[in-house]
Amino acid sequence: MRYRRLGRTELQVSEVGLGCEWLEHKDEAEVRAIVERAESHGMNTMDVWMSDPRVRSMLGDAIRDTRDRWFIQGHIGSTWQDGQYVRTRDAEACKLAFDDMLERFHTDHIDLGMIHYVDSPEELRQILAGGAYLDYVHELHAQGVIDHVGISTHNPICGLMAIESGEVDMLMFSVNPAYDMKPASDDIETLFGDYGDEIQGMDADRLELYRASERADIGITVMKTFAGGRLLDPERSPFGVALTPVQCMHYALTRPAVSSVLIGYASVDQVDECASYEGASAEDLDYATALATAPAHPISGLCTYCGHCAPCTTGISIANVNKFFDLAEVQVAKGEPLPALVADHYHALEHTADECIACGACEPRCPFGVPIIERMEAAVALFG
Ligand code: SF4
Ligand code: SF4
Repeated sequence: MRYRRLGRTELQVSEVGLGCEWLEHKDEAEVRAIVERAESHGMNTMDVWMSDPRVRSMLGDAIRDTRDRWFIQGHIGSTWQDGQYVRTRDAEACKLAFDDMLERFHTDHIDLGMIHYVDSPEELRQILAGGAYLDYVHELHAQGVIDHVGISTHNPICGLMAIESGEVDMLMFSVNPAYDMKPASDDIETLFGDYGDEIQGMDADRLELYRASERADIGITVMKTFAGGRLLDPERSPFGVALTPVQCMHYALTRPAVSSVLIGYASVDQVDECASYEGASAEDLDYATALATAPAHPISGLCTYCGHCAPCTTGISIANVNKFFDLAEVQVAKGEPLPALVADHYHALEHTADECIACGACEPRCPFGVPIIERMEAAVALFG
């Protein structure tokens, strides 16, 4: 298993982790088997958004002897009331539910305390304006009960607001090529809707969120890697073609700022299948060809950082140059200074864009028709 730094939290999270949403209806032996198999592959990060005491206990018992090996995302605002899940900002209810999680996980701290599921900018504005809920989050942090504060959202506008507020150190965000084509919404259901003729290319707000995360050193853990299974099914995929789990994971893990994909496994076999991301061949990881040749092909001319254009005649990592260019360019276009962190990353590359000799060898290899020579020239103009 490879591990990545989760932005400024400095945690080294496994690229592939454990989302637990499908464990609610499993029995204790099944949950234990899935957790132990995940551990055997080196997974060390899990998301626990569920409030159901039964699944919390099963998970807590499964990692009782290995708690120190795991980074847990625990959600503040996911509560269990009258036998069902209730999302709330009522501080007293949040406290009861969070104390319950600590007890069922046999632990005195949660690594990542998540402001639970905010998709409405108005709701987030209210939270950030202060009040008992935010006070409780601060209290947990000040007391060391949570090591870092994060937020889970499907809406890039909320992600951007959270980053700009300075209140969070990381994001849990839904990342997949289907959602990257959809406009921001505060209704998760619309993300599953009919794309029809709407697919136009990368959604600008989502691009901006990736850029802002990099700039602020905010790491992203990923949910909805398979778009709720739609991307695995040619009938339901907005692209009209099925991707494999490993291809979807590679798409998410090659977005800026993304550190880990947390997959909801329903079986031990699914754990093995997703863990095979580690060591997968370039051919198996190749989401780009599938998307570029899909019946609905929305990304023409935009770099997806897939790396298909390699090798460059002079050794330039074209994907990385393009990634740093995209990250910096939006800021400069707004009249802001060149972001120093991104410029540092660019200049640390072994070969930079000024080494491009315009031989043209790369362009026919790009499945998305990116004008690479032009982009190299633009990168030189931007970074020097
Ligand atoms: S055109 Fe430039 S970037 Fe492309 S292969 Fe040639 S030297 Fe490399
Ligand atoms: S230029 Fe084309 S082939 Fe190269 S990384 Fe970007 S999208 Fe992929």
